[in-house]
Amino acid sequence: MPDKRDYYDILGVDRGASDDEIKKAYRQAAKKYHPDLNPGDKAAETSFKEANEAYEVLSDKDKRGRYDQFGHAGVDPNYGAGAGGAGGGINVDFGDLGDIFSSFFGGGFGGSGRQANPNAPRRGSDTSVTLNLSFEEAAKGCVKTVNATRIEACGDCGGSGAAKGSIPKTCAACNGTGQVRVTQRTPFGAMQTQKVCDVCRGSGKSVDNPCKACAGKGRVRRTHSQDVNIPAGIDDGQILNVRGSGDTGQNGGPNGDLHIHVSVRPHPIFERDGYDVHCEIPITFAQAALGAEIAVPTLDGQKKIAVHEGAQPGDVLKLKGNGIKRLHSEEKGNQYIHLMLEVPRNLSDRQKTLLREFDAATDEKNYKKRKGFFDKLKDMF
Ligand SMILES: [Zn+2]
Ligand SMILES: [Zn+2]
Repeated sequence: MPDKRDYYDILGVDRGASDDEIKKAYRQAAKKYHPDLNPGDKAAETSFKEANEAYEVLSDKDKRGRYDQFGHAGVDPNYGAGAGGAGGGINVDFGDLGDIFSSFFGGGFGGSGRQANPNAPRRGSDTSVTLNLSFEEAAKGCVKTVNATRIEACGDCGGSGAAKGSIPKTCAACNGTGQVRVTQRTPFGAMQTQKVCDVCRGSGKSVDNPCKACAGKGRVRRTHSQDVNIPAGIDDGQILNVRGSGDTGQNGGPNGDLHIHVSVRPHPIFERDGYDVHCEIPITFAQAALGAEIAVPTLDGQKKIAVHEGAQPGDVLKLKGNGIKRLHSEEKGNQYIHLMLEVPRNLSDRQKTLLREFDAATDEKNYKKRKGFFDKLKDMF
């Protein structure tokens, strides 16, 4: 396989080039080497292909990252395969290094300081639940009873994990520190690190006679329910945060939060766009031609609205301020009514006669678009 040129060299940019610089360089190369502009020029064709390939990789954040790290082998699985594959940087084994890093930053020096005291206050974890709302509930706001599970201190033992009448003792394995020292072999030699005590799982206490309700853990998972104020204007996919309603904190630490993921059911008539509401209203041919007052559904009940004389299908009427209230604001969006024209079906003989008479009585004054359309046809042929 011939040596592949460096993608950055091909585009003539340096390795730190921004996305815009890469795009600009590619455009220039494409213009210069495009086959249409260089007919029969094999060298130009090759340069054009190279530029395309380079741009495809360097314009993709993910591919560019792999190319920067591993070269051509990072983006082309076949690259270097013919030469035995050994040269492919992608095959480098980071296993050992990874272990060293994790003992430095994870289980080792870095991590141990924070966990040294098993009795230090710890914040409870955040929990989450999905809440289904109707279109109107989301638009207007409501109070909802939300059921969610969380971890709480066991009520039977008060969180100690010891059965009634007994108290927890200091863990003998770690002397109550919750941590034990372990020696790890690494390529740098033996290193001492600390890890959480297996016997007491870091609590520093041991329980001879565990509480039955929580199996000695001191904590239980329970379903709790609470009424939550849903603010008007909330939308599908948004998350409400209820502070302190997540898992109970430990050793006096604060509780986690409850994240409520809002899912809004679609409405049969209304469609939401930000804080605006759209709906389609069918009207008759006569209503459109003569103008009419029609009743339209809104979030605040039915409203009368005037359809102007000569209204056309697709015309949009606006009800200002009849949309959805903005979150944490008094402002409201608008409602837009899209007029749909329903053409009558199943006409009786009398209706047909009347309609034919009516049609015969109309002329081009009545049909502006139609006249314009046929005038254009005349010009074409
Ligand atoms: Zn208990
Ligand atoms: Zn222990």
